[in-house]
Amino acid sequence: MATRLVEVQKLKKWFPIKGVVFSTTVASVKAVDEVSFFINQGETLGLVGESGSGKTTAGRTMLKLLQPTGGKIIYKGEDITKLTPNQMRPLRRNMQIMFQDPYGSLNPRMPVGDIIQEPLDVHGIGTRKERRQAVATMMETVGLRPEYERRYPHEFSGGQRQRIGVARALVINPELLVLDEPISALDVSIQSQIINLLQELQQRLNLTYLFIAHDLAVVRHMSDRVAVMYLGKIVETAENDELFDHPLHPYTQALLSAVPVPDPEVKRERIILQGDIPSPVNPPSGCHFRTRCPYAMPICKEQEPLAIEVAPGHTVACHLLTKK
Ligand code: SF4
Repeated sequence: MATRLVEVQKLKKWFPIKGVVFSTTVASVKAVDEVSFFINQGETLGLVGESGSGKTTAGRTMLKLLQPTGGKIIYKGEDITKLTPNQMRPLRRNMQIMFQDPYGSLNPRMPVGDIIQEPLDVHGIGTRKERRQAVATMMETVGLRPEYERRYPHEFSGGQRQRIGVARALVINPELLVLDEPISALDVSIQSQIINLLQELQQRLNLTYLFIAHDLAVVRHMSDRVAVMYLGKIVETAENDELFDHPLHPYTQALLSAVPVPDPEVKRERIILQGDIPSPVNPPSGCHFRTRCPYAMPICKEQEPLAIEVAPGHTVACHLLTKK
């Protein structure tokens, strides 16, 4: 039986918008609005959606890098939602994040050995000698030559810089890693190298990933289960093959219709979504997707659809399914 490592229940992250006069809150950006999902130990949950859907904010709030506005975060059975930064410290080393931009996230004035070692220093792990040894081992693990430890980030290629990012995230031996668009900024030719590296390290170190991406082909390759986000809400969650073979939410169907199918015999009709994603400050009433949904009905404006389980592990939030 799979062990649940982390779970978020009705997680909310709203950012207040302050008025010019008296700095009172006049509105809120509802970046994440009552989102629920879990990740089992050793698995990868893919989190997909257009830019502006709230997936990055969801990942950061799950790690408590952003304080949630509401809902719960359960880590290994413990409710960590209200823990203070000091109380979070011992847990912090178990949860790391890797960013999209391998250059912007590395301090250009620090040698890479020091960059990789920094989390060990922050958490006071090991003696000086042990830390240097851990850095050398980790550089080797991610395919970097340890003798390059005194070089600076600008002396490395994009792919190598992302390997430095991986080494820095893993050097303190975390269990849970949020991979926030880890290959989007890389050339196509080196994307697969980083994906293979992440998969190999997951197997070897029993890592658990939240993989945030908008490239569905990569998400399919990487994930065990997939959650689809639209305007701060999760609209569909399922096992990887189930979601890609039987998408049920109209938004998921539209997203998947844009992914090329490798089999020339299979024809898939492209669904073009009209308009842009609406503002999360004032999302549409009822179903957030209704302004772009080709199947919208009167009830979609009046009532928010609840997520229902249509098959084991496959949940969908759409009135079309309750109608059936
Ligand atoms: Fe479309 Fe209505 Fe389903 Fe929303 S609830 S996806 S608007 S059919």
